[in-house]
Amino acid sequence: MTTALSSTCGTQYQHSHNLSAANTMALACTADSVVTLTNEAQLEAFMATTQESQPLFVLSGGSNVLLPDQLHATVLRPKMLGITVTAQTPDYVDIEVMAGEDWHDLVVYTIDQGWYGLENLALIPGLTGAAPVQNIGAYGVQLEDRLQYVRAYHLPSQTWHHLDAADCQFGYRDSIFKRTPNTWLISRVGLRLHTDATHVLASYGDVQTVAHTYAKQQERTQITPADVMQAIIDIRQQKLPDPKRLPNCGSFFQNPIISQNQFILLQASYPNIVGYPMPESTVKVAAGWLIEQAGLKGGGVEPIITHQKQALVLTNHRPYLATQADVAAAQDYIISCVYEKFAITLVREPVWVNASGKIGHGEYEV
Ligand SMILES: Cc1cc2nc3c(=O)[nH]c(=O)nc-3n(C[C@H](O)[C@H](O)[C@H](O)COP(=O)(O)OP(=O)(O)OC[C@H]3O[C@@H](n4cnc5c(N)ncnc54)[C@H](O)[C@@H]3O)c2cc1C
Repeated sequence: MTTALSSTCGTQYQHSHNLSAANTMALACTADSVVTLTNEAQLEAFMATTQESQPLFVLSGGSNVLLPDQLHATVLRPKMLGITVTAQTPDYVDIEVMAGEDWHDLVVYTIDQGWYGLENLALIPGLTGAAPVQNIGAYGVQLEDRLQYVRAYHLPSQTWHHLDAADCQFGYRDSIFKRTPNTWLISRVGLRLHTDATHVLASYGDVQTVAHTYAKQQERTQITPADVMQAIIDIRQQKLPDPKRLPNCGSFFQNPIISQNQFILLQASYPNIVGYPMPESTVKVAAGWLIEQAGLKGGGVEPIITHQKQALVLTNHRPYLATQADVAAAQDYIISCVYEKFAITLVREPVWVNASGKIGHGEYEV
């Protein structure tokens, strides 16, 4: 419930704001205040008047966060909209996208325009400004493959910065923005997309097969980026629960990386263990498989339960009432069961936000 509304230079400023519907896990959360930003000048104006000691937290679509029931911070919500073509050649188009644009809608829009390269990232929830934070990735493509630059506000120094892709220090589900939490507010993302409809990446899982059914329906032999996007939408819809129907925040645990020796030992006891070879004699193990084998498919601690079709996804069966403490209980239980069986410690993927808005990855408090 919003208890008061005030305004600084046209900025919407709400006191004591309920964020339970603003996070896809639907955890109960009330923030001290929320500032909705519809343009960059509003951010500057707000920062000029705010106190240095005021904790700030940036929240976009809320699909990768675990919020506390009381958030004693000012929550900044970037809602700037707009998509601008900044350069165009016969081979590619450069676009600048404002942070508040819905990511999936952007993917669909670009494909409709004949601008390709984002199709593999279809149906990832959230807003565009959050996409560089964890370098979103799916089906063989990561944001860094398309990103040219980011315009971001450095909150501590109150200055704007233009960061090229190299400055963003991207890694697997990682970036400078993730490694320096509560520091940046991304307001624009520059992307380079191509115009060659014959160039697609469909080698992951069933993408190729499903995409071909769409091509066949239109009596084509070659698949297009639109076919790949539709295939990925279909596959994701079958595999992952829709957060609007069953609250969740996607993959809850990272796929752990273990030594090849440990993997070989496990393989002797569990011949079906799912692992992918990684550099330096390590193996990435499928966290969903570990959870399932620990007997936790559809298990957990009420009301936070693993999804029946995909054990890696934790779902909230008490929307708007369950709290971060409920998530911690289920998380700890799953971690201990998996450790007991495999001697592997699972690490959480979504961002843990503490009561003062500080955020952490892999641990509770920071
Ligand atoms: C069903 C489901 C499926 C998913 N599938 C995938 C997937 O395939 N691949 C993948 O990579 N991710 C996936 N995710 C995770 C999530 O969708 C992405 O991480 C997404 O980019 C988060 O966007 P958001 O707007 O919801 O960010 P939020 O959850 O609001 O924020 C996430 C983090 O980014 C920070 N942040 C947000 N906006 C900004 C900004 N403008 N400037 C600076 N910091 C900011 C926040 O402070 C927070 O730390 C999935 C999530 C769900 C629920």
